[in-house]
Amino acid sequence: MSELVCIGTSDAFGAGGRRQSAYLLRLPSGSVLLDCGQTTLTGLSSSGIDREEIEAIVVSHFHADHFGGIPLFLLGSVFADERRGPLRIVGPPGIEARVHEAARALGHPLDRRSYDFPLSFEELPNGKEVDLGPVRLRAFETFHSPDSHPHGVLVEGSGRRIAYSGDTGWFDQLPKHVRGSDLFLCECTLDRQGFEYHLSLEELASRRADFDCGRILLTHLGAEMRARSDHEGFEIADDDLVLKL
Ligand SMILES: [Zn+2]
Ligand SMILES: [Zn+2]
Repeated sequence: MSELVCIGTSDAFGAGGRRQSAYLLRLPSGSVLLDCGQTTLTGLSSSGIDREEIEAIVVSHFHADHFGGIPLFLLGSVFADERRGPLRIVGPPGIEARVHEAARALGHPLDRRSYDFPLSFEELPNGKEVDLGPVRLRAFETFHSPDSHPHGVLVEGSGRRIAYSGDTGWFDQLPKHVRGSDLFLCECTLDRQGFEYHLSLEELASRRADFDCGRILLTHLGAEMRARSDHEGFEIADDDLVLKL
């Protein structure tokens, strides 16, 4: 059985009472968490998902609503879970230093901590395929705050191909990157265009024909997107939504 469990589908600010970005991809070969925002531990717990099920956390970029939950995920693995299974944390170049900086700033330094489980940090360079075991990954650069090292991710495993935009504004290569995917999990923070670093429904609707892929699921929804009753025919994500793949 393959499925995607939406743990958090809001924008950075928790619009509509939703949680920040996190998606659990469950495949017969294993389970991977795409992004881990600051509210992700609450989401996993409320959905009855055991953190030990997660073999890898894949980070799209260094914004708190996408990686801010990792320090306490690690501490929870030590103090609450007594985790023994390996955990891989994969993200843009500098992932280990960024997680440690965030942990220090939040008052839970991890620099000298030892773990009773194998923990590895792995960089996912732009355009290079990385085999994680449960899935194969390939990152592509997106158009978002440059300091956050923004990337989308293509995930392949068990005969399925999922594209995840991370955060991005429009850039002309986006349809090419996600072409042929069975599911495109696409950020759509805005109702109307107005901020270059995020996509809007208005823009996606006008460019719908550019996308040659299977199902498109809009996520990272801001307040106006959340409040709309129609979404120009697009499907929208919600917390706890489970998609069979
Ligand atoms: Zn975000
Ligand atoms: Zn962002």
